[in-house]
Amino acid sequence: MQEIKDIIGQVKNPNSGKTLQEEDRVISAEEKVGKLHVQYNSENIIADTKRAIEREILESLKERYSEDDIYIFPVSAKVEKKVEDSKPAQLKVGHGQVGEKRSIPNVKNIVAIGSGKGGVGKSTFTSNLALSLTQQGYKVGIVDADIYGPSLPLMFNKRNLRPVANEEQKIIPLESYGVKFISFGSFIHEDEPVVWRGPMLGGVLNQFFFDTDWGELDYLLIDLPPGTGDVQLSMVQNLEMHGAIIISTPQDMALLDARKALHMFDKLSLHVIGMVENMSSFICDGCGKEHFLYGTGGVHAACTELGVGFLGQIPLDLGVRKGSDFGKPYMANAEKHEGNKIWQAHLDLAKRVDAYFNPSNSKKKSLVDKILNRKN
Ligand code: ADP
Repeated sequence: MQEIKDIIGQVKNPNSGKTLQEEDRVISAEEKVGKLHVQYNSENIIADTKRAIEREILESLKERYSEDDIYIFPVSAKVEKKVEDSKPAQLKVGHGQVGEKRSIPNVKNIVAIGSGKGGVGKSTFTSNLALSLTQQGYKVGIVDADIYGPSLPLMFNKRNLRPVANEEQKIIPLESYGVKFISFGSFIHEDEPVVWRGPMLGGVLNQFFFDTDWGELDYLLIDLPPGTGDVQLSMVQNLEMHGAIIISTPQDMALLDARKALHMFDKLSLHVIGMVENMSSFICDGCGKEHFLYGTGGVHAACTELGVGFLGQIPLDLGVRKGSDFGKPYMANAEKHEGNKIWQAHLDLAKRVDAYFNPSNSKKKSLVDKILNRKN
């Protein structure tokens, strides 16, 4: 496909007057099932100019491909300068092969985190759970598989950074606050429509799982897209996972959706370790009183009814919101939050998750606590 890359390379960036080749912007041109996939680096190019460039790319290839057969992917994240002279990691956009389930070498426990619908705090919780597990001495990574709203780069203060590849062409995950992570958000621009579709995503996800240099991990958390459709199912069908967590808010609707999530994991034959209730109450910072805006005990009751473990609840809190929206998750901000109720709620929750995978740890710990007469 070098020939095609050369043709695209002659297209000019109207802003600078230089060709894409001169600016080293052509990333890849690959043919997949009769369609041409083109990736170019759109760093610092405004939307209008991007459109002009893409029109020119289509024009330059019109003798060879019809417009409908060309998919253009602008990639606009800056390259993280972690490894000298390393190349930006390339995504293999393409259909994922469904095959034998595979595990990831040196990654002990892989946990999917799902929700029936969006906006219930799944990504916020995933990042805080990862940080809580890190505080217990574990090595933790996250795959942000939420294509609709990949929020990890923002939450972990690594917006506009693009992971690089190592010598073996494996992606080196980004790292913040001791947690390694990889996200669709690092490869697409925030205001670009997501052009990847579910089945094509399988290929990229496989790369996130198997072609990423995770090193040794105790936990890899997978932040799934919200919802329970085929996309979610097909995304994770190649990966050998060890458990799932469902997060829900206490409202009835969210709970209904959470039930669907449970059925989805059933279909994947994946054991649901338990449910988490997020935004369960609001603690007034003026009077300190706890208000249960959506009633109490909804998720707990649903867990009992469905025979699923209840992992705990996280109140609605300004610190939690600001943390994830401003690039320093709640559990990464010990100076500010350590020791308070919500901090402890996260730690307890992480312990319950860990107790599922390492029951002996929790038994040992409760024995030590008993001897020291300490409450957990
Ligand atoms: P999802 O991943 O389910 O779409 P997010 O984690 O992106 O949800 O959270 C949606 C919004 O809710 C974000 O602005 C986030 O900061 C906020 N949020 C999540 N959990 C809490 C909480 N416990 N208290 C306050 N705000 C929260």
